[in-house]
Amino acid sequence: MSRTDTIAVVGAGLSGAVIGRELAEAGLRVEIFDLRGHIAGNCHTERDEQSGVMVHVYGPHIFHTDDREVWDYVNRFQTFLPYKNRVKTTIGGQVYSLPLNLHTINQFFRTALRPDEARAFIAHQADRSIPTPSNFEEQALRLVGRDLYEAFLKGYTQKQWGCAPAELPASILKRLPVRFNYDDNYFFHQYQGMPENGYTDMIGRILDHANITLHLGVRFQRASGDHFAHTFYSGPLDAYFEYEHGRLAYRTLDFERFTHEGDYQGCAVMNYGDVEVPYTRVTEHKHFAPWEEHAGSVCYREFSRAGGPDDIPYYPLRRAEAETQLSTYVARALRERSTTFVGRLGTYRYLDMDVTVREALDTARCFLSRRSARAPMPAFLHRPI
Ligand SMILES: Cc1cc2nc3c(=O)[nH]c(=O)nc-3n(C[C@H](O)[C@H](O)[C@H](O)COP(=O)(O)OP(=O)(O)OC[C@H]3O[C@@H](n4cnc5c(N)ncnc54)[C@H](O)[C@@H]3O)c2cc1C
Repeated sequence: MSRTDTIAVVGAGLSGAVIGRELAEAGLRVEIFDLRGHIAGNCHTERDEQSGVMVHVYGPHIFHTDDREVWDYVNRFQTFLPYKNRVKTTIGGQVYSLPLNLHTINQFFRTALRPDEARAFIAHQADRSIPTPSNFEEQALRLVGRDLYEAFLKGYTQKQWGCAPAELPASILKRLPVRFNYDDNYFFHQYQGMPENGYTDMIGRILDHANITLHLGVRFQRASGDHFAHTFYSGPLDAYFEYEHGRLAYRTLDFERFTHEGDYQGCAVMNYGDVEVPYTRVTEHKHFAPWEEHAGSVCYREFSRAGGPDDIPYYPLRRAEAETQLSTYVARALRERSTTFVGRLGTYRYLDMDVTVREALDTARCFLSRRSARAPMPAFLHRPI
């Protein structure tokens, strides 16, 4: 059956849901496909049957943004309850506060410095003999000095990215990762919160529109796009072309799930900075919904490793030597006549949820205005490179 008056959206994650909704509200018919048996992509949440805890199935997600329109948009579909992300880290058998702040410095160096004293102290620690850092390690040494780097940044970074920090670009560590006060709110953004009934409930409401038809458990193939007026594709860029130029590199995550009676660690996120501890962090999901009470607890130990062909792609590994491969895929994509590549996988970039919503709104609006002007829609609104 031809559906040339219908728009295909590949992926029922945040990108696909927001684009689909915007187009549906503009009066277009939309068919959304997801190869998984559930909506919400990597933001998927579901309640653990035994404890009732809301579990972030693909790792914890905290919504934070400075974008007022995006904040209003998500609040249209879900009540967001206040949540501040406060992360702790265990190093050498001690628990410290993150991000690095005055409390961390005073505890680590056994001092009682005030802000200006701490600023001068860290400036003294910093290795100014490195004029232009050429990698992550040099950048860290230049910003915070060897002691803080080796304790707080080196082991964690090595586990997260699977290589020595000296092999990573300096750009990963852009700013001084230290606060000279006791503010331990992990994010700087003005609006932060958690959806009261989880992300899957929120995305279900976004998708709930008469013009949207949802197909779960269906893998969309490139050739299927011929049956639609246009395709918005939020799957992996290389998978769309059946990996004909090889696989783009990703880090994947393994979650070792375990349950506990009571409170396992007293906080939502406990990092483990020592390289001898094989996991990067333990997350305790009931603490992401502090307004709920549960006797039982569900926790994830999180392990990071190189993604293989059968693994879920989590973080794009943007190595300089792979830029040619990525450029080849981008050039291929630019030759597609009626497909637009969107979202974290379609554009091979790490995207926070607020950026995902912003880009999805902009993409849908661009499509609607080009459609009424009978102008072609580009393959990318946001290019990977
Ligand atoms: C571990 C982790 C933690 C994160 N934590 C945060 C956080 O705290 N705060 C924050 O703002 N952001 C966070 N993010 C980012 C967040 O996950 C993304 O912003 C969001 O998932 C992007 O949505 P998306 O729709 O682009 O991609 P996805 O959620 O990946 O959705 C893409 C969908 O496409 C489907 N698909 C792929 N190929 C096909 C095909 N051929 N046919 C049919 N379906 C297909 C997939 O099954 C998937 O459901 C985190 C990301 C990770 C990896």
